Amino acid sequence: MAAKVQIGPEDTKRLKQCLAVERDQLKIEINEELAKESQSGYSQIIGVVKDRGDESVADLYSDLNVANIERHVTRLKAIENALFNKTEETYGICEDCALPIDKQRLEVDPAVSRCLDCQTLYESTPTAKDVTPSL
Ligand SMILES: [Zn+2]
Repeated sequence: MAAKVQIGPEDTKRLKQCLAVERDQLKIEINEELAKESQSGYSQIIGVVKDRGDESVADLYSDLNVANIERHVTRLKAIENALFNKTEETYGICEDCALPIDKQRLEVDPAVSRCLDCQTLYESTPTAKDVTPSL
């Protein structure tokens, strides 16, 4: 196995720059998707809901194209977390075990907040999403 490489201050700057660009693009995409939804989908759903009585708009709405928007919003949150909650010192450090995240992993996705081991553990724990991560 290749030796793990840590990022340096220059990498942090560069990767955060990438995140800032991706963030701007995502915001535009989300706005476009929301506009599209409200034009085509949403008004139709309102009609359907009226016909069907008490059913939640949210339930019907979530069956449509919202999954795509949700995915983008989740991504945006991860990016903003990396951009605004991490300093030069804490960027690239795993939120769970506090060890440096492998440089290669950050190059693939600069928004990751966990090392590979912790991410694997996190994803394999069903209740993980309900637990507030400890700092
Ligand atoms: Zn870790």
